[in-house]
Amino acid sequence: MDKSSKIYVAGHRGLVGSAIYRKLQAEGYTNLVVRSRSELDLTNQQQVYDFFARERPEYVFLAAAKVGGILANNTYPADFIRDNLLIQTNVIDAAYRYGVKKLLFLGSSCIYPKFAPQPMKEEYLLSGKLEPTNEPYAIAKISGIIMCQSYRRQYGFNAISLMPTNLYGPGDNFDLETSHVLAALIRKFAEAKESGAQEVVVWGTGTPRREFLHVDDLADAALFLMLNYDDGEIVNVGVGEDISISELAELVADVVGYRGKIVYDTSKPDGTPRKLLDVSKLTALGWRPRISLRYGIRQTYEWYLSNRATAR
Ligand code: GDP
Repeated sequence: MDKSSKIYVAGHRGLVGSAIYRKLQAEGYTNLVVRSRSELDLTNQQQVYDFFARERPEYVFLAAAKVGGILANNTYPADFIRDNLLIQTNVIDAAYRYGVKKLLFLGSSCIYPKFAPQPMKEEYLLSGKLEPTNEPYAIAKISGIIMCQSYRRQYGFNAISLMPTNLYGPGDNFDLETSHVLAALIRKFAEAKESGAQEVVVWGTGTPRREFLHVDDLADAALFLMLNYDDGEIVNVGVGEDISISELAELVADVVGYRGKIVYDTSKPDGTPRKLLDVSKLTALGWRPRISLRYGIRQTYEWYLSNRATAR
């Protein structure tokens, strides 16, 4: 891939796709192709084939997906399996058929087995039962990974798959019904601070542990692997450290400057008890993250303050 290669970023309006797009621009890649959802419906096979036939991209970052937090996954399971299966099947197959040189697919740390030993190594994929709240999403993403590996095996198609941990950053979804925990907490503490509320409700028991990676670090890793990794085996992308939800709540409260009480609503689900990636493979390849959690939260909080009128 060189600076004038034709690169399609699928999902360039999303958290991950927009970060990859910014990264490619910043690194001087000049021939970037994008389409909004209204211009190209990735769940529609004919539209996807027509797009690839016309544009003939050489490289594809497949960052288009239906994603959401624990409540959204639990409420819309049919949408999560359907949309993801359609989007990834259409794009991977079209990329192969229309001569794409390399495709990067994104799995997720939440598709590892619910009770996988921690930290999770790449080889634990498909070694046990999934977390029921996001099983439809996980089955779709696992299918995407196996599809990439199968196209490599049968056709020699160069498709790689990354397993990002929980992501956050500018462009995140701040809708309390569908967001992930970090964006939700930024919004809850920011609003409580502004209104003078003395209580913020955090879901679950506060004991689950999660690992958080800034999306700009993920974009950096995605470009690094696009340039340096040509193997079908999945690669974890994370920071290698986790934090409990209650510690996270205290950190976000501190960054935002909220001084009231934090209460836990245990009628809400905890989800997986712990989710931490083993990142030794990526470290051995020569990549490491740069953005600290405190800095990343502050920067995302600032982004939220200046973009919330138009944010999702
Ligand atoms: P998960 O990593 O797939 O479980 O998805 P989430 O990011 O939605 O949730 C992570 C953890 O944070 C779960 O234990 C949630 O119960 C907890 N959590 C606490 N408060 C919130 C909140 O306001 N929104 C969300 N989405 N999760 C929360």
